[in-house]
Amino acid sequence: MTATRDDASERDAADGLVVWRDEFVIDPDGPIYLDGNSLGRLPKRTRARLAQVIDDDWGRDLVGSWEHWVDLPAQVGDLLGASLLLARGGEVVMGDSTTVCLYKLASAALAARPGAIVTDAANFPTDRYVLAGLAEATGRRLVQMDCDAVDGPEADAVAQACTDAGEVALVSLSHVSYRSGALCDMPAITDAAHAAGALTLWDLCHSVGAVEVDLTSAGADLAVGCTYKYVNGGPGSPAFMYVRAELQDELHQPIWGWFAQRDQFAMGPAHDPAPGITAFLSGTPPILGLVAAEEGVRLLDLAGMAAVRAKSECLTAYAVELFDEWLAPIGASLGTPRDPRRRGAHVSIRHPDAERLCALLQEGGVVTDFRTPDSIRFGMPPLYVRFVDVFDAFDALRALLAG
Ligand SMILES: *Cc1c(COP(=O)(O)O)cnc(C)c1O
Repeated sequence: MTATRDDASERDAADGLVVWRDEFVIDPDGPIYLDGNSLGRLPKRTRARLAQVIDDDWGRDLVGSWEHWVDLPAQVGDLLGASLLLARGGEVVMGDSTTVCLYKLASAALAARPGAIVTDAANFPTDRYVLAGLAEATGRRLVQMDCDAVDGPEADAVAQACTDAGEVALVSLSHVSYRSGALCDMPAITDAAHAAGALTLWDLCHSVGAVEVDLTSAGADLAVGCTYKYVNGGPGSPAFMYVRAELQDELHQPIWGWFAQRDQFAMGPAHDPAPGITAFLSGTPPILGLVAAEEGVRLLDLAGMAAVRAKSECLTAYAVELFDEWLAPIGASLGTPRDPRRRGAHVSIRHPDAERLCALLQEGGVVTDFRTPDSIRFGMPPLYVRFVDVFDAFDALRALLAG
């Protein structure tokens, strides 16, 4: 093909999701924003909802609002679980940051199973650090698999790592790699982990709201993920925890707070956790971030994850076409799997000069981000990114590389 901007505009005209862009606060003269995989844009409904919660619930009703606020972590968790993860009711709850949620669920898994922890050496830093800290605190081995930099962890490699480790308590991986965007085969890896006697803990930060996730049919045990990337919940909006229903009685998380208590306001002498997913809570939830996350989930639910994923595959495929035509011949390489079913919603372009190129893109009005050692990530959340945005961003990178 010979790429033209008209062709990109035609793709936008044919896009059924293009109407959702109007739901977001976007400055028409602002930069091209391809970093929604770090911080999603602000939905207009969220601004209105936050103003209402601030003025009415907080400003007017004050402490009385806790009567309904107290149920929000489970309510929003159920909504997010049903629409974005295909979880069953009572399996998802909104918690603290992803880092803290990961710590809590990994601790619970280690307390329930003997043996090593298996992860990917290229996993997100906070995951590797939390798992290393837990390995040290509990005297476990932390096995860090060396996987292909583009394709990420495969089921065979996980099975082999488990065999080599002997006894394995926990396999913890990112479902979509933050650097390459590689999408793991969750059912196959879960089967491999279960065959080794391990529990699985999935980090869904780059999956939730970006790809269709089916935790139930994958047989996943545990999962966490944030809501400020593809869910558009805003900076510091709370993460979620998923605990498969069949495991909720067996697993016990380590931060015994009063929000997990069976009768919170009895102020009793001893920790007596409520049944079910509530036992995984700890302290006071961040209400403003929580309602913002709820609005973000609703928006994705209205648009429909099947349609979101379908457009996402087209956007990333278009980026790969532009890469092949423009960038491959002049020294860049593709850092993301070519098969759309094996990648999430961003495309990484690798180049030895990536860090400088990323800064130059930003100066030219294209916001992407750099990830060590050599990747520029082009994040394309389908609710607000257009094909012309992808065209313009890749055109800008082509000009920089040619210049
Ligand atoms: C963004 C991200 C996080 C962020 O963790 P926080 O506790 O919210 O800082 C964790 N894991 C992965 C895979 C991420 O992409």
